[in-house]
Amino acid sequence: MSDRGTIRTFPVIFAAPSGAGKTTIARELSTRRRDVEFSISATTRPARRTERDGVDYFFHTEEEFRRMIAEGELLEWAEVHGYLYGTPRRNLVQARDRHHFLLLDIDVQGSRQVKDVVPDAVSIFVLPPDGAELAQRLIGRGSEDGEVRRHRLLAAREELNAAAEFDYVVVNDNLAAAVGSVETILEAEALRIFRRVDLQEEVRSLISDVDRVLGR
Ligand code: ADP
Ligand code: 5GP
Repeated sequence: MSDRGTIRTFPVIFAAPSGAGKTTIARELSTRRRDVEFSISATTRPARRTERDGVDYFFHTEEEFRRMIAEGELLEWAEVHGYLYGTPRRNLVQARDRHHFLLLDIDVQGSRQVKDVVPDAVSIFVLPPDGAELAQRLIGRGSEDGEVRRHRLLAAREELNAAAEFDYVVVNDNLAAAVGSVETILEAEALRIFRRVDLQEEVRSLISDVDRVLGR
């Protein structure tokens, strides 16, 4: 019996106050491992200078986004910082077909929805080492002006209150260590007995091997 057997791959949700580093961790993990893929969300937020459609997000008008909701194309969706964000259902279907772990970088509202409809999902809350560093990372990222940044820090206070709802917590102080912790979670979760697709068959085959040795 191989250590990995056949397991049903599962989605891994990353949530965190804006600026804690969940996108950085999820992106880094998806470059390190071939069995994970990053879930590209749909959003009505305008693209930042460095962002590309279909790579960072699928950028949509609000009308297009509402149509996707109406047609049931989204696994979850939420309004975050004044814009709509959602996970295309096909991301999960494709990842499962490819036997990949899907990494979802979504907010707390979306995390709750995914946990409701995909019970085998694993959720990780990413914490910054401290509040000053969180503010510093938001400034360093340079993607928001002062007013928007202030709004995000206010929202961060709210998101932090949801930390206890998650399965795991990872403090993103040193990036390599944080990515390492996430890999540990992934490896351990992959070994959980209920994820094993052919458990009964594997056990039956082992019993027949033992029986053969016993001459039964
Ligand atoms: P989030 O997705 O949680 O909003 P990002 O991944 O965009 O956060 O990270 C916010 C900023 O912090 C980015 O500029 C990123 O490069 C930086 N960053 C992420 N992780 C670390 C880390 N461990 N140490 C220092 N800077 C980091
Ligand atoms: P940003 O605009 O900084 O890329 O993301 C803002 C927030 O929206 C982050 O907390 C991010 O995790 C969240 N977000 C991104 N994509 C999705 C999504 O598909 N669904 C939900 N619910 N939140 C998302």
